[in-house]
Amino acid sequence: MAWQGIEGHDAVLERFIQADERGRVAGSFLFIGPHGVGKGTFALALAKALVCESPRPGLEPCGGCRSCLQSAAGTHPDIDIVRKPEDRATIPIELLIGDAEHRMREGLCWRLLLKPALGGRKVAILLDADHLSEEAANCLLKTLEEPPDNALIILVGTSLERQLPTIRSRCQIVRFRPLATDAVGRILASETGQTELNEASLKMAAAGSGGSLVRARLLLDQEVASFRDRLMGLLATRPLRGVDLARDTIAFIEAAGKDAPPRRARLRIVLESTVEFYRAALQKAVQFDGAGPTIADASISSAVTRWQGDADEAAAAISRTLDALDALERNANLTILIDAWTAILEQPRLAQSA
Ligand SMILES: [Zn+2]
Repeated sequence: MAWQGIEGHDAVLERFIQADERGRVAGSFLFIGPHGVGKGTFALALAKALVCESPRPGLEPCGGCRSCLQSAAGTHPDIDIVRKPEDRATIPIELLIGDAEHRMREGLCWRLLLKPALGGRKVAILLDADHLSEEAANCLLKTLEEPPDNALIILVGTSLERQLPTIRSRCQIVRFRPLATDAVGRILASETGQTELNEASLKMAAAGSGGSLVRARLLLDQEVASFRDRLMGLLATRPLRGVDLARDTIAFIEAAGKDAPPRRARLRIVLESTVEFYRAALQKAVQFDGAGPTIADASISSAVTRWQGDADEAAAAISRTLDALDALERNANLTILIDAWTAILEQPRLAQSA
């Protein structure tokens, strides 16, 4: 049985179980790992175990106490979750220390100083830690350095490079890896209720997930899976036709509806899949024996076989697409972003001489 339904992060769990047995799960942690692998879910599960009034060994919450009932309902007063608002580029400092009229009388840092409401412990989870402005990070430093006794603060981000050195140095770093393809497949199967009919699409979604459960769920949508295949076809064609790539990508994200989050999720799949394609292409380009890389995902591997570029071209495309991903995280205008990204991808030699 997976711990609280979570698969694929046994090493991280073991670390916390051992720390818990020594009575030492406290302080400041920075969870780092790719988008969609379950870092936030793990943080919440850990919080539920820590606030339980009669936990079982192995950080298993009892499921029946007052604390467990409240955390299951998402209303536990000692589990505090803060995330970046959808319409903001960074986490506003008022979420951490209150607005100008209520400085240090509201916000996550202030709430962490209060006594636990249910007598146990307090856990604060700060999602989207990639998006801490320097000002917001400064507000957090003292809390991270000296969290109240028995309190736990967990920052959740995607890469260490995106965190300010002042934050990094005050936290214990916990790394999360991409999920294995078969773990993604098992989780999807248990979520969707596996039938003969959807077995093939489950397999494809798991293979194309890049270890991200969030992406795998999106790939169960036939429209998304088909577009990913179409994308591979566009990328494999040289010279790359930026206009076609832009037009098709914009149509694909607009088909997600008017709301920003699903549109951004679709563009993330496009950009991440592009990075994966060019990483495989780069591997192929630097291999002298011509054997080609082994890639689990059939649509990437067949596209890479057709692609005939060199290592420089693949490396430039990776770095530009990572820049586009950064811009996406910073809430850039999506159409402008897509136009700029496809235009620069079309000219692989341009920026290197600049
Ligand atoms: Zn309990």
